[in-house]
Amino acid sequence: MIERLERKLQITGKIVFETGWRIGSGRAGLTCDLGVLLDAEGLPLLPGSSIKGKLRSTCEALAPALNLKACLLNSAFSNVDCASDVKWYTKNRDDYETQLRNGPFSQLRWIEAHTCDVCKLFGSPVRAARLRCSDGRLVNPMPYLVSVRDGVVLDRDSHTAAEGLKYDYETVAAGTAFEVSFDLDNPTPQDEALLGAALFEWAAGSTLGGFTSRGLGRFRLEINALRGVDLTDPQQRRRYLLEVQPHNKLSDLGDWKTYFQTKIDKQLQAAATAAGGA
Ligand SMILES: [Zn+2]
Repeated sequence: MIERLERKLQITGKIVFETGWRIGSGRAGLTCDLGVLLDAEGLPLLPGSSIKGKLRSTCEALAPALNLKACLLNSAFSNVDCASDVKWYTKNRDDYETQLRNGPFSQLRWIEAHTCDVCKLFGSPVRAARLRCSDGRLVNPMPYLVSVRDGVVLDRDSHTAAEGLKYDYETVAAGTAFEVSFDLDNPTPQDEALLGAALFEWAAGSTLGGFTSRGLGRFRLEINALRGVDLTDPQQRRRYLLEVQPHNKLSDLGDWKTYFQTKIDKQLQAAATAAGGA
């Protein structure tokens, strides 16, 4: 069963690095939450999956403030039931299989009822994502973009340099900027409040990549447009179907801050009402 596409929202902007940032070394044992690729010309490309992973953790951190649920893919730890957590799912498999036998509607209703707000937005093994992140495309190629620094391997327990273990790591210069877009299909009010809060956080500045404790990886998101389409509106639907310029398919929705502020306020009001009624 395929969900009918009724509404689309698109945020476009730039991720601008205020400091240098680290490209994953690929060395075993060294953690880096940012896998960076080099394109055919040796220019760095920010994979959409890395951007999405970081955005997911931002949303996980902000969800409680909006009275939304985040399972952290670990129901036992987060105390939030979610079918995305394999252990939780395995425990509740009989219940799921009963719904499965009752037909696709029951199955989908069960998944909807047992998926946390973050997994609804970002997707999970049992559920398609409503949010997509493009790859970050470098907008300002500069000479000496990628440089190699010396690093020492730190002993994880003592935080001192491990004897004789040195390695090189590559960093990308400060000032690099990457064009990105975020696409939301059929967003719910909760999706918009959660994503909106994350966009405000990124606009204020956040970090990506490894070695952020050494001052690397600081970036901010500069949003330049918010566009959308409501396909239930005949005029908008016609334009969406007939327009050949991708950016003209959607209409400008005005200032992104005003738009998302309204969504966040509504969610906060709903949370306050729920708390008052409890
Ligand atoms: Zn979840």
